[in-house]
Amino acid sequence: MAGQTESVQGLNVDPAELQKFAALAHRWWDPNSEFKPLHEINPLRLTLIDQKVALAGKRVLDVGCGGGILSESMALKGAQVTGIDLGEKALKVAQLHKLESGVDVDYRLISAETLAAEMPQSFDVVTCMEMLEHVPDPAAVVNACATLVKPGGMVFFSTINRNPKAYLFAVIGAEYVLNLLPRGTHEYEKFIKPSELSAWSRRAGLSLNGLTGMSYNPLSKRYWLGDDVSVNYMLYTTK
Ligand code: SAH
Repeated sequence: MAGQTESVQGLNVDPAELQKFAALAHRWWDPNSEFKPLHEINPLRLTLIDQKVALAGKRVLDVGCGGGILSESMALKGAQVTGIDLGEKALKVAQLHKLESGVDVDYRLISAETLAAEMPQSFDVVTCMEMLEHVPDPAAVVNACATLVKPGGMVFFSTINRNPKAYLFAVIGAEYVLNLLPRGTHEYEKFIKPSELSAWSRRAGLSLNGLTGMSYNPLSKRYWLGDDVSVNYMLYTTK
């Protein structure tokens, strides 16, 4: 990490949310741990991003990068990746894994809002995956992502929809029935409807390019991308 630290005071962050990820951080790269869903969806989201932007040679910012699952995979495609998060433990894990894998990613402990003030319009691509539903003011993060990307660049968001089916699948199913995630990982009230994320994006000066659903079949234990955005989904936009 480039010696950058921020206190969480005054930042758009919920310390209890960071703590949830800190408690599990040492298992981030264990593909059979609580992070299994992230490992399993990663090839799908990576392929979609690469198809849209051709990652090789691009300057990419991964907001809420955690242990670096997506960051490293984008770097392996030839992108020059910066990963930011406010979780100190997750970033330490990311840093350690980088030593082991030899995949170069620049990790920094800094908020998207602070980085946006420091280096606006600096990235060809910004990704912000499975993070907005853990943040007190997600629209502010959307704004920061829009500031950080260069004109003509793309911003990718993924999060969880808010409706009874999403509650059933993402909370009851994943946390209580299938034990895919620790109980309390997700709070229903913080889920985000595609209409809300779209409105925040448009207001931030991003135009909408597409919406893709991420679905899971608990019987086949398979994930796939498709039209069903009722639970997990990705929104991609251009500045
Ligand atoms: N984007 C990664 C990790 C998702 S887990 C992936 O999809 O593989 C959610 C991450 O968001 C955690 O690493 C957590 O520390 C981070 N996070 C939560 N609130 C945050 C905030 N306000 N600012 C930055 N990161 C945050």
